[in-house]
Amino acid sequence: MTTEFRNEPLTDFTKEENAVAMREAIEKVKRDLGREYPLVIGGERILTEDKFESINPANRTQVVGRFQKATKDLANRAVETAYESFKTWSITPATERADLLFRVAGLMRQRKHELSAWMIHEVSKGWAEADGDTAEAIDFCEFYAREMLRYAAPQPLTKIDGENNSLEYIALGVATVIPPWNFPLAIMAGMTGAAIVTGNTVVLKPSSDAPTIAYKFFELLEEAGLPAGVVNFTTGSGAEVGDVIVDHPHTRFISFTGSKEIGLRINERAAKVQDGQLWIKRVIAEMGGKDAIIVAEDANLDDAAMGIVQSAFGFQGEKCSACSRAIIDAKIYDSMLEKIVERTEKIQVGDPADPATNMSAVINEKAFKTIINYIEKGKAEGGRVLVGGGSDGEQGFFIEPTVIADVKAGATIEQEEIFGPVLAVIKAEDYDDALRIANDTQFGLTGAVYSADEAKLERARREFHVGNLYLNRKCTGAFVGVHPFGGFNMSGTDSKAGGRDYLLLFMQAKLSSTKIGATVGKKAEAGTTA
Ligand code: NAD
Repeated sequence: MTTEFRNEPLTDFTKEENAVAMREAIEKVKRDLGREYPLVIGGERILTEDKFESINPANRTQVVGRFQKATKDLANRAVETAYESFKTWSITPATERADLLFRVAGLMRQRKHELSAWMIHEVSKGWAEADGDTAEAIDFCEFYAREMLRYAAPQPLTKIDGENNSLEYIALGVATVIPPWNFPLAIMAGMTGAAIVTGNTVVLKPSSDAPTIAYKFFELLEEAGLPAGVVNFTTGSGAEVGDVIVDHPHTRFISFTGSKEIGLRINERAAKVQDGQLWIKRVIAEMGGKDAIIVAEDANLDDAAMGIVQSAFGFQGEKCSACSRAIIDAKIYDSMLEKIVERTEKIQVGDPADPATNMSAVINEKAFKTIINYIEKGKAEGGRVLVGGGSDGEQGFFIEPTVIADVKAGATIEQEEIFGPVLAVIKAEDYDDALRIANDTQFGLTGAVYSADEAKLERARREFHVGNLYLNRKCTGAFVGVHPFGGFNMSGTDSKAGGRDYLLLFMQAKLSSTKIGATVGKKAEAGTTA
């Protein structure tokens, strides 16, 4: 009997035994850094001539893992292997597939701190952020396993005389799974887990900034008993490998999470029907954000300042849900600025392996340069840097938490996703103006409003056009099952990961209608909805 889904508890690191366990995990991972990892296609470990390295963003000379650059031929082979494996995996009973995910969740729970320690090294997550990522990965496996059991149960249909009718959700085919680096375990495991539990087979191409943690997850899948070829681990250049596995005529759908630019490119390529292709490819694309927190004149300003600073600078602002715009009513603008600055100045930037660190390095050199350019652009367009603005790229890609005030609605840093620790503060004439500014970007992922006035919150529920709206709380920190996640407009296809609609995107419904009495022998019983 499966128990009701409950979120995995976050670890309390103020308890000494937990802190000790994490320190031990960090030491263990340190001893294992720099290893080489193969491609795995149909269970076969493959090394290629060309390699790339995944490095520690906070310590750029430290190699976390060495990886293979798959060639086009190998990328094609990965799709063909997944296509073959689909024949057996798609007819494996849903209960077995769900059990596999339950086992994977159990293994992750046993190695929780070790998995977190890999993320501390590979993407510069602090202890709490890494622990949250691992907990979310466990949640996705637990939640989607239960969801699959729900979808595999008899589905309600209207009854008529003379027929037995049944509706069954079946798998689609080969999934190309392309996750981002920023929730390198949770999102990658969620996308992959959803694909396999629904009976699809997968070509998994992790981000080149976070392949090690993806490989660790892949090893857990194998350990949990996933047959060879159901998930094929394929690293390499996004442009080279990515295009091949998106374009392949045997690819049935693409599950993508990442930037707007790459999401749109994939959507366009997937729309082209290739020779020998029998279906319209489905694209699930979760993309960027330009998330805003509105502070109304009647808000609790301390709560609002705390929510803004946590949402803006948690994990260096590298969350799709991060608050990159604080839109503040003119009447409280100056006092809010003071409170935001006061809190931001307390943030400790440093080594993510040190539990005292609140913020660490951004993911790579390209992001480092892009973010610095955005800070310069913000200043050039009239913004006032109140705190931060500095950077140091010598040891790692460190950028100070940066608050830029007096940013005008429509300015570049008010419109484009920066994906780093930069908060633009915008003065709004009143609540109407604030809502207008908040809605006036291409995106629509998360947003929050701080106000003590229920009427204002109700207006936000109606008018603030985002997939995840938060009222009197921060705009980051969605929990699986509690806050199904996905955005509007150029933020993507609103898949609502971690929600009850999500698995439908990975399946198609088949209706069987049997006339009663037309067969001899055993009575056709399958599918009665009684
Ligand atoms: P990205 O778009 O650069 O890369 C995402 C993935 O696409 C990576 O695995 C990358 O290797 C791959 N890729 C690159 N070029 C490709 C190509 N031509 N074909 C196929 N695949 C290709 O994004 P990122 O830097 O990894 O992640 C940050 C972005 O992700 C931000 O925009 C963030 O807002 C977004 N994001 C969105 C959500 C959400 O739920 N909406 C969640 C997390 C991150």
